[in-house]
Amino acid sequence: MRTRETYLVRAAGLSLYLFAIVISMNVCADERFASQRQQMVREIRQSVADTTRYISKSALNERVMSAMGTVPRHEFVPPSKQSSAYQNRPLPIGHGQTISQPYIVALMTDLVDLVEQDTVLEIGTGSGYQAAILAELVHKVYTIEIVEALGLSAAKRLQKLGYNNVETRIGDGYYGWPEQGPFDAIVVTAASSHIPPPLVRQIKPGGIMLIPVGSQFQVQQLTLVRKDEKGDVITRQVLPVRFVPLTGGH
Ligand code: SAH
Repeated sequence: MRTRETYLVRAAGLSLYLFAIVISMNVCADERFASQRQQMVREIRQSVADTTRYISKSALNERVMSAMGTVPRHEFVPPSKQSSAYQNRPLPIGHGQTISQPYIVALMTDLVDLVEQDTVLEIGTGSGYQAAILAELVHKVYTIEIVEALGLSAAKRLQKLGYNNVETRIGDGYYGWPEQGPFDAIVVTAASSHIPPPLVRQIKPGGIMLIPVGSQFQVQQLTLVRKDEKGDVITRQVLPVRFVPLTGGH
């Protein structure tokens, strides 16, 4: 009997010990990711400074930088890519798609000039990372993904991380989300050969859209589309970029 009790006490002690090891490994990993994330934010600041002549600013909005320093990018990449999650570069996320470079995510978020009350539409959910950054800054984000498997896993991930202000949908983003529009801002994260007219219609007067425009597999121009209060539209090319193509039947 005594032997059995001793065995049970030892087994309980061992599991407590293993539990403590697992917890402390997680704490270590979280701390490592947090410090890598701060390093990523410093690299974004440097890239912004290096591209000042294109983007006409030497620093981005601090609210945007703080969102970049908060969202756990390692949760948005496949496990095999987690150790590279905070490098300032795009990474594969499966299905031939990529999570955008952090500098580009920060820049696009800055350029659409958001305030807390805004409603934003994103085309190309991918991993859900850009949607999470937007969700840190505005009260409501709608995002559309054409690849069902990506859209479903992004929806699950965003829910798990507590981004309850993001609504996801599987479909062709070329046509936007007219039932929820018009939007203060639209962010398109896949390259289109032209500016989709249905999306222009879904920009609010005074609102803005950012979209990479150009041919597939070549450098595209990140294009800012502004709609004034009268509904007139002006466009401006900001920076050469390289995005995966906007697919679909349009
Ligand atoms: N914003 C994403 C990265 C985008 S990669 C992130 O933060 O991870 C571009 C995404 O656009 C891909 O997932 C691709 O499947 C999607 N896409 C391409 N064409 C689309 C379309 N017509 N409608 C919606 N999504 C589209």
